[in-house]
Amino acid sequence: MKDILKLDMLVNTLENEHELDKNSLAELLECKDVPILYTAADRVRKKFVGDDVYLRGLIEFSNFCCRTCFYCGLRAANSGIKRYRMEPGEVIECAANAVKYGLKTIVLQSGEDKFFTVNDLCKIVDKIKDMGTAVTLSVGELSRNDYTALKHAGADRYLLRIETSNEKLYESLHPRMSYKNRVRCLYDLKELGYETGTGCLIGLPGQTPEMLAEDLLFFKKIDADMIGMGPFIPCKGTPLEYEAEGNVETVLKMMALARLLMPDINMPVTTALGVKADDGYRKGLGCGANVIMPNMGIDDYKKLYAIYPGKGDKVETLENQINVIKCLISKEGRVVGKHFGGRIRTVKI
Ligand code: SAM
Repeated sequence: MKDILKLDMLVNTLENEHELDKNSLAELLECKDVPILYTAADRVRKKFVGDDVYLRGLIEFSNFCCRTCFYCGLRAANSGIKRYRMEPGEVIECAANAVKYGLKTIVLQSGEDKFFTVNDLCKIVDKIKDMGTAVTLSVGELSRNDYTALKHAGADRYLLRIETSNEKLYESLHPRMSYKNRVRCLYDLKELGYETGTGCLIGLPGQTPEMLAEDLLFFKKIDADMIGMGPFIPCKGTPLEYEAEGNVETVLKMMALARLLMPDINMPVTTALGVKADDGYRKGLGCGANVIMPNMGIDDYKKLYAIYPGKGDKVETLENQINVIKCLISKEGRVVGKHFGGRIRTVKI
């Protein structure tokens, strides 16, 4: 965008009205250097969700997956990774540990592993709820009945990225999966009362700024409560192994735009951003993020949850991990959230 006045005007509109059309969003995504976008997102974050940064304890309990997503290292066809499945007792133990460190949300994530029945998952959720935490699930596409059972067991939130809201691109990257079913899942989750998280991969082959702008409008349309976005990182053993990786600046711009469009959502700094950007967590916190998800799983398994390279490379004690995050939060003038950190709606829709 050559015209600095136009850039100012677009950012102003976003900051005051939290609305923008697709073409203007795409134009902003194509701007080279947009510190004013980041500072506006930071102001809106402060005004609507305050200085609290919520820590959500992530437990990646199985890396088995029946899907064959083109970008993901966990895809069923990847024989190059060692598979693991945690015992329910191990999951509960990790959750109890996270609670000891003061975390108020447990996030249970896995590949789509049909070994765990919904009944098994309900029992795990029920036990973790007894610890007095919020529970977020991220176990992929299920039927409405299964989502209902998990909600009744006590699950509070659910993360299911749309990955891309472009139906054609989506279906080209997800063999034997349907875009319409993914969207159906998200609407079911909303209707069932889950705080619903979605998000996209940034830098997928064939993705354009217009498609990313549409992703943002899609998040707004479905009234997502949480948005997680990270760079696409090419992974060995997948059909996209030799493609270019996603651009960190574009991720930061997408985060800033998401905050400006949806001021009261919860938005994590994703692990993928932390892996790809120097100082990724700090940068993400400055572009609208208010959530960090420390990995509270078992060390031996962290590296095996190899959705992309670089993840789980840095094995540190849980105590060290939490301390580093807490130090960063306070260095940035922010505070660790003491509550569950659910979405508090302050903007009328
Ligand atoms: N099975 C669940 C689902 O489908 O939502 C959760 C697990 S899935 C591995 C979690 C997320 O990892 C996906 O939503 C995807 O965006 C991200 N992911 C997978 N492969 C990736 C890659 N190569 N680079 C960056 N992120 C990736």
